[in-house]
Amino acid sequence: MKATHIITLSFDDGFLKSNIRIAEIYEKHECCACFNVIATGHLDSFLPPNRWHAGFPTGSFETWNELQARGHEIMPHGLRHANKAALPLAEAQQLILECLTVFGRQLAGFDPKEAVFNFPYNASTPQLEAWLPSVVKAFRTSGDGINPLPHPGQVKLTTTGQGPGNCEQHLDAMLARLLALPSGWLIYNTHGLDEEGWGPIGSDYLDRLLDRLIAIPTVRILPAGQALKI
Ligand SMILES: [Zn+2]
Repeated sequence: MKATHIITLSFDDGFLKSNIRIAEIYEKHECCACFNVIATGHLDSFLPPNRWHAGFPTGSFETWNELQARGHEIMPHGLRHANKAALPLAEAQQLILECLTVFGRQLAGFDPKEAVFNFPYNASTPQLEAWLPSVVKAFRTSGDGINPLPHPGQVKLTTTGQGPGNCEQHLDAMLARLLALPSGWLIYNTHGLDEEGWGPIGSDYLDRLLDRLIAIPTVRILPAGQALKI
């Protein structure tokens, strides 16, 4: 049956413990997860930008390559998690280009022309949005979590989320809204599992959620980059 509803849970920030568990849960349901990681997040020199990043180990490209080889998607979430909307345009562009360079060097087969750049804080500017399609395939920024189904030329993906506490109720409400529409693509921005990161979801909840969603014949659960290829 043709998919009329696509669901992408877009997991940011690269929390090691959470991402390994998320990958296992997705694999149990024969789905591929969508991870957006910070290019320098695994380095000792990385300065957590806020308390939601501090105290939780972050994965390295060794882990990201392994998860990618298992079918999961790894996409860029900035060089150092800077708020690009608060920086001069040239500086923000330079950070994005450096982020893509690190991904090119460290992530097997990385091609920026197939990449989705996931803005830290989902904070973009019209100038960056106009420029980004010249360096990546698409970008994710703030807006309504429900997008049109993937189509050629779709470069701006919008997402929503809720925090800092558990976001399950909000995600459930967004899913109900999506499934009440004739068609659509929900891109929901999540972070870690259980106690990790801003606006987490429970690991048991994720397991039950995937179980429920894959039983709906018109639903497909896809990472954003894969969704753009269908
Ligand atoms: Zn982030």
